[in-house]
Amino acid sequence: MLATFKIQKFNPETDGKAHYRDYEIELPERATVLEAIIAIKEQLDGTLSFRCACRSAICGSCAMRINSCARLACKTKVADEVARFGTVLIEPLQKLKVIKDLIVDMDPFWRMVEKVRPWLMPDPHETPPERERLVAQGTDRDVMRDSLCIFCACCHTDCNVTEIEPGFVGPAALARGHRYVADTRDGATEQRIRLLSDSHGIWECARCFVCTQVCPKGVDPRESIRQIGHLAFERGLVSDDGARHAQAFLDSVKASGRLNEATLPLKTRGLGVLGMTPLAIRMFLKGKVPFPLQKPVPDVEEIRKIFELTEKKR
Ligand code: SF4
Repeated sequence: MLATFKIQKFNPETDGKAHYRDYEIELPERATVLEAIIAIKEQLDGTLSFRCACRSAICGSCAMRINSCARLACKTKVADEVARFGTVLIEPLQKLKVIKDLIVDMDPFWRMVEKVRPWLMPDPHETPPERERLVAQGTDRDVMRDSLCIFCACCHTDCNVTEIEPGFVGPAALARGHRYVADTRDGATEQRIRLLSDSHGIWECARCFVCTQVCPKGVDPRESIRQIGHLAFERGLVSDDGARHAQAFLDSVKASGRLNEATLPLKTRGLGVLGMTPLAIRMFLKGKVPFPLQKPVPDVEEIRKIFELTEKKR
């Protein structure tokens, strides 16, 4: 198979800015993108720089953007990319400083992971057991799913929120935080839920599911974020704007069967909504402010029954 590649290159010692270089190379039909860039380095361009190690989707070091999506090069087939896009565009992960070509500085990502205290914190007052501590049945599935993370940073760097809010701790860190929340051997569950639902935590998630979509290990960070949100709600942790927004959303649907978008900003931001006055005026002039008084939908009682049943089930 003759395949063409367009690869982003940047050498901080000689280049003012990044540029692209085209390569054409003969490859076996089953070649992965990692095998292809190793062949390019060996046969066409010895300066091409990238990270790799296990070649088996275990170490996460060959994460890069392949045809505009963060992926592991060792898990991506060249033939699939060629069939879909005609060529293979390769760029470094987004939002992290490029050190050289496809190598990025992972330190900002590690700092986010560190924020969630990714280690077991048993209750210091608990008498140590005679045998090893076992994960309780029923929670082991969540612990296992979150533990599959190999910290490749694909989800973090493709996340739509880290694009506009660099302080957001990110999906990988939140999934790792949930791994310890779900672990019954941990003694800091309450502290963790507070930490993860604090500012720059779960409530900044835009629920776009990109993290779950790009994860090469099936971790499903969005589901972990949802579960932490559920636990935070159960504990009444609704001081964050995001939590109040979710509560206002629920209250509106429960009251009228509709989402009252006119009252959402006030219920979410309280008096802070006054800072949005110029925006509200512009929206009003363009006829985009919804009418605040809404009639309930005809069968609103049925909707309320669903809420009652859900609350009882909890
Ligand atoms: Fe990579 Fe998935 Fe872990 Fe995100 S959750 S860092 S995509 S393995």
